Amino acid sequence: MSLPAVPVSQSPENKFREYLSSRPKPQRFTDQQRVLVQHIFAQHEHFDADQLILDVHGAGLNISRATIYRTLSKLVDAGLLRRIEVGTRTVYEHDYGYPQHEHMVCERCGKMIEFQSESIQAALQQVTEQNQFLASGHTLVVRGVCAECNRARNAKRRLDLI
Ligand SMILES: [Zn+2]
Ligand SMILES: [Zn+2]
Repeated sequence: MSLPAVPVSQSPENKFREYLSSRPKPQRFTDQQRVLVQHIFAQHEHFDADQLILDVHGAGLNISRATIYRTLSKLVDAGLLRRIEVGTRTVYEHDYGYPQHEHMVCERCGKMIEFQSESIQAALQQVTEQNQFLASGHTLVVRGVCAECNRARNAKRRLDLI
């Protein structure tokens, strides 16, 4: 499930190029990085580094694991990707051009369900203001069992009782 995109003034590529050139030690935007950014921003989904590596190599792109890991870190630093810790897994998703949202994660099938809540936003704003805390972001992950897995579990339980 994807939320509607947020309009942005720049393409992810241009934003990343700008980030690299504005580093204390300006870096070149390499062809491999450009291919990775295009690949990652072609569709919104949650992915981990291993999935991305498989996907990139499956598409016949010859980019090393080290380059992929380094580029992911830079994309997070540049504000293009968001890193979410889900248990022992680190998941990435678009930050640039995508609205702030929270996640529910199914511990059975691994599905990530996105949701937005005005009352959560309001509560966070209140708490941070009370503490004179300048927030740069937050991560809220609700763990549990999704409706589908719950239905499957109940159906099995009924069968076990027969
Ligand atoms: Zn599930
Ligand atoms: Zn998400």
